[in-house]
Amino acid sequence: MKNVIAIFGTRPEAIKMAPVVTELRKSSVVNLRVCVTAQHRGILDQVLALFAIAPDHDLDLMLPNQTLDQLTARLLTGVGEVLDQERPDLVLVHGDTSTTLASSLAAFYRKLPVGHVEAGLRSGSLLAPWPEEMNRRVATLATRFHFTPTERSRQNLLAEGVDPSHIHLTGNTVIDALIETVARLRAAPERRAAFERQFKYLDSRLPLVLVTAHRRENFGAGFESICRAMLDIVTENDVQLVYPVHPNPNVRGPVERLLGSHPRIHLIDPLDYEPFVFLMERSHIIITDSGGVQEEAPSLGKPVLVMRDTTERPEAVDAGTVILVGTAQQRIVDEANRLLREPVHYARMAQAMNPYGDGLAAKRIRAVIEEQA
Ligand code: UDP
Repeated sequence: MKNVIAIFGTRPEAIKMAPVVTELRKSSVVNLRVCVTAQHRGILDQVLALFAIAPDHDLDLMLPNQTLDQLTARLLTGVGEVLDQERPDLVLVHGDTSTTLASSLAAFYRKLPVGHVEAGLRSGSLLAPWPEEMNRRVATLATRFHFTPTERSRQNLLAEGVDPSHIHLTGNTVIDALIETVARLRAAPERRAAFERQFKYLDSRLPLVLVTAHRRENFGAGFESICRAMLDIVTENDVQLVYPVHPNPNVRGPVERLLGSHPRIHLIDPLDYEPFVFLMERSHIIITDSGGVQEEAPSLGKPVLVMRDTTERPEAVDAGTVILVGTAQQRIVDEANRLLREPVHYARMAQAMNPYGDGLAAKRIRAVIEEQA
């Protein structure tokens, strides 16, 4: 048996690792252990529950307002202790979080091979997304099995001198998770009806603008500008806006102050993954600074405005379903107005396509681990 440990700690990592955990659990040659650092707590637990993942280790490391230094130091020590206890043959990490950075470093300190899921994404700027671009570059240095979502991410790694035989083009597991969740929703009309009730304040006649924004590099002036743009969009158009607000106080503060009192703006708590997928399907356009959402929305045929200046996910921008709008107020408003007012432009962007995967990424990852790890 191969002893594999999967380590993750945030909501997006959990959503994207869930299909891998499910696949590896079916393997007769892999003994899988799961360690969650709980860098996020509540919003991680709902994903674990949805995908029926019971962690073997829970480091419960979230503290309010901890600095990156404190978080990284605690992660490194905590994960190191788990690795000493488990002595795995392979350490699986995901993406670009502080958990990814610390876990790959802790594995490297023990000379353990690392498998990096969603490897090879690059924005080209270490400051955007910050600190994620650094996190993923460090993970690359420690990794033996690079599971890249797209050809572009494979090329990024080749350009950095990674051995081609260590790279496996698998697709992004977020599409596996999304397809499974959409299928589950379609198969259960009573769940859909429950979500209809949950969002009964939505007006069926008004287009829905779904918003998420929580990136660290937008804290401060960026958030003020984003919020003012949202206010302009609902003032200038007959639309309704739903914004599940991330629990971080740097986000909640300006959002509640600036957007808290408009009757067509609904600020809600972060949603569990299933109702969030329901709302993405129900929406007309999506405005976000999230990495995962900009990968998911093209599969659902939803145009996306991404409030970042650069993206490490250029595939959907090239395909024309995503536009990078930055965080300047007027640019966000102009692009939203265009989508809401020009049906031809809207139709061009609303092409359903899957630049990030076909739903089989986790199966490919399992095959590589079974055959080569
Ligand atoms: N998501 C969710 N509930 C929400 C908002 C987002 O389940 O209220 C999901 C979304 O579908 C995507 C993931 O969380 O799969 C994105 O997470 P986030 O934006 O926190 O992180 P990023 O992708 O930017 O790393």
